[in-house]
Amino acid sequence: MSLSLENVTHSTFDEHPYAHLFTTSDPAGAVLFRTDVMQQVVCSPRGAELVKAVLSGEASPEGLPPDVRQVLLDMGAESAASDHDPRRGGTVNVPTLYLVPTLACQLGCAYCRITRKQGQQTGSRLSPEAARNGIDHVFGRVPSGARRTLVLFGGEPLLVPETVFSAICHVRGGPESANTDIMLQTNGIPIDAETAEFLAANEVFVLLSLDGLEEVHNQHRMLLAGGGSFEASVAGYRKAKEAGCRMGISATSTVETADRFSASFEAMLQELAPDKCGAVTHLHPMSGERSPHQIAPDVAAGIQIETYSAARRLGIYHQQMCERIGPFVSGTRRRYACAGCGGKVVVAPNGAAGICEYNAGDGRSFVPLKEFSTDTVADFLSWAARSPLDADECVRCPALPGCGGGCAYDSQQILGDALKFDPWLCETNVRIIHWLMGDLLTQLRGRLPAGDFHILAPEDRALVLGNITPEAANIPMPHIVRYHDPGAQRCCAE
Ligand code: SF4
Ligand code: SF4
Repeated sequence: MSLSLENVTHSTFDEHPYAHLFTTSDPAGAVLFRTDVMQQVVCSPRGAELVKAVLSGEASPEGLPPDVRQVLLDMGAESAASDHDPRRGGTVNVPTLYLVPTLACQLGCAYCRITRKQGQQTGSRLSPEAARNGIDHVFGRVPSGARRTLVLFGGEPLLVPETVFSAICHVRGGPESANTDIMLQTNGIPIDAETAEFLAANEVFVLLSLDGLEEVHNQHRMLLAGGGSFEASVAGYRKAKEAGCRMGISATSTVETADRFSASFEAMLQELAPDKCGAVTHLHPMSGERSPHQIAPDVAAGIQIETYSAARRLGIYHQQMCERIGPFVSGTRRRYACAGCGGKVVVAPNGAAGICEYNAGDGRSFVPLKEFSTDTVADFLSWAARSPLDADECVRCPALPGCGGGCAYDSQQILGDALKFDPWLCETNVRIIHWLMGDLLTQLRGRLPAGDFHILAPEDRALVLGNITPEAANIPMPHIVRYHDPGAQRCCAE
């Protein structure tokens, strides 16, 4: 069967579910990609025809060189590539803690679900004591020396500054400080010079929400008090950067901004020079239905590709695309995209603990912190089983290695079952893998020796990273997903 997307033709084979042949006319050639063993063979047009005939059962494999024949046919599940993440088990080693001091915010972004559905969290503010207890309780079960990540999330967490400061001091004053990454996700508005100095002194990675330059950003990100928030957010960004914080920017695209999002994103990167960036193209559902601001999968794939290409030119790590591309480069497979599936505890503003902040409003799977266990939180183990790597429906998908399965909460809301996978995500991911294979052939142009077949080495695959150097020091939450060089270079998953 063949399908053409992003100027790349994709052929699949009934008898070889993990084999995918991607063909382009410019440059003329193909990539054979086995998603179970994570091996690739670049073929000339003549080589591609032979590979296609062999995999279709129309030609003898004897016509192939032995090493190519082995990649195509001989290696099976017993030699499958290793996975980035082992399947999660119980609650004794959960390395990610989200503290949510409040679900309130000074902004009223049209696409934000979390501030609109505060439910039983309305008016609650997480106390400094409850925050410290959360840190002790969750990280106290992580083996000494193992990396762990504290994320301060909201709403706007800095609306409860005493809790944010207390949590950071508690970690940095504790025995595992050197093993703990701290990330603050903020709109930036409350960051004054004093706060910036504090964040920098305590090695807090600041992830700031900016949707682009002023006109694009202010399309949705309006102050409840009136007016756009761009100026105030950028002022906070600059203060934190000048103080020496490592900085990330997370930008959200919508149907209203899609036509100018990528250009604004690139200009923003050039102007603000973050250490890391991200383009959010999926929105959490509103009222159980897909957000009306949600763009279509083909538009989402285009924006991911365009913003990644810009980040790659500038040498800036791009979260959503590097999460997908990292497994391809490293030759491993990603088990989870959702930190709730992969292992995190969320402590909500009212002090209850759960696994996903978006469920805090209605309390699904939230219990008192001290009662959090696999018995009391049924989702904790069922979500751990939610991975495309274990799903029959994903076996033939070319995006399988880098997928991770998307957001369980979105599936719960849109499909009525958190364990299902959203077709919107699937179409987006498949379009991106088509582009990636075409891009790989473009990057390899003129670099390979003449011949009909070339088995790719890690350094060949790494060409798709361009100027991006996956320095662990520039990336928050580095323990969650390994990146590029398993065991050494890593990236974040959310
Ligand atoms: S379910 Fe979605 S929102 Fe919740 S932790 Fe997972 S990815 Fe995040
Ligand atoms: S993109 Fe869809 S079909 Fe493919 S691995 Fe992910 S969830 Fe499965």
